[in-house]
Amino acid sequence: MKILVINAGSSSLKYQLIDMEDKSVLAKGLCERIGIDGSNLQHTNIGLDKKVRIESAMKNHADAIKLVIDALVNPDYGVIKNMSEIGAVGHRVVHGAEYFADSCIIDGKVKEALEMCTPLAPLHNPPNIIGIEACEKIMPGIKQVAVFDTAFHQTMPAKAFMYGLPYKFYEEQKVRKYGFHGTSHKFVSREAAKLLGKAPEELKIITCHLGNGSSVTAVDCGKSVDTSMGFTPLDGTVMGTRTGSMDPAVVTYLFDQGLDSKQVNTLMNKESGVYGISGVSSDFRDLSEASKNGNKRAQLALDMFTYGVKKYIGAYAAAMGGVDAIVFTAGVGENDNETRAAIVDGLEFMGIKIDSEKNNKRGTVDISADDATVKTLVIPTNEELMIAIDTLNLVEE
Ligand code: ADP
Repeated sequence: MKILVINAGSSSLKYQLIDMEDKSVLAKGLCERIGIDGSNLQHTNIGLDKKVRIESAMKNHADAIKLVIDALVNPDYGVIKNMSEIGAVGHRVVHGAEYFADSCIIDGKVKEALEMCTPLAPLHNPPNIIGIEACEKIMPGIKQVAVFDTAFHQTMPAKAFMYGLPYKFYEEQKVRKYGFHGTSHKFVSREAAKLLGKAPEELKIITCHLGNGSSVTAVDCGKSVDTSMGFTPLDGTVMGTRTGSMDPAVVTYLFDQGLDSKQVNTLMNKESGVYGISGVSSDFRDLSEASKNGNKRAQLALDMFTYGVKKYIGAYAAAMGGVDAIVFTAGVGENDNETRAAIVDGLEFMGIKIDSEKNNKRGTVDISADDATVKTLVIPTNEELMIAIDTLNLVEE
């Protein structure tokens, strides 16, 4: 079966068509500037390694989906003969709140529940829903599946997801830790089990998704039992431009200093993190170069990041009563060997030790030293494939 994976943003839409026979990506692309002047589609036929850019007005997401289908069936650069070859569509949805502990086939009830999740992700869920409705309109009769960033973390126990606010804030306002990057944590923890030749149920794994946004998850017996992101993706480690955790009183202090909530929100999400600390960049390649050229604040930003992730590894090993494997993934986790080495440096007492030669390798690789008792693995994430796998499992049921 061929599955179309859709990730709809407010003015953009990313897609991949995946052949589930061999899990290969047939085509992928991106619609940009939907609803804005200058909208365009960038489409790649992977087999032919052929890229095309199509300038065409897209008033809305339905126009974008129509163009995507046209590109997929195009005789020159398409990959299918007609739309009926698409067996199902898997949609990335950011927030499933407590309504969704797993992926699900979309029907009227699911759409109602999706609307109820919107106040928790007011920027992200509405475009996800618009993307679903656009597909329903353009591809009637083809099953649509929702796959949530939060769902994998719904197995966290209350002691991990509750905040120390009065209980009614949880009951009435749904304030709790939800966690994000769930599709990635699920994918790499499953891949880690395969690599180690064990069932997920036999393992305690700490997955470190380190990218522009970063989160660390404790996966015990295949289930998320704690994660570093919280009510929103702002919580946890210092990130590219986000603060990560800090004393919440800083926020009220900033209000008292005259900043309003919009300003504080922008400050904490867009102007902080390693970018705000270094004043250089949110990109770890730039930080590493700046630090090597003597920029102390770039080094401080890197130190804060690696120290933060290291502390989560210690905390989650304690939470699970042990750890069998550490997994690094996403832009920084997959590519930045120096950051990986700095994170695990000093954790030898836990049995975590990497081999510096293996740590220079790329792709899926076991970088543990021979005498390490805890495995350290690098596993490229593939959220689109995880969405396609969940979609296939649901439509085949
Ligand atoms: P996002 O959270 O936006 O999905 P990614 O997981 O793609 O982000 O990670 C992007 C980040 O990965 C970049 O900002 C950069 O810091 C880091 N990165 C990518 N490639 C490298 C590299 N070769 N070395 C170090 N860092 C890298």
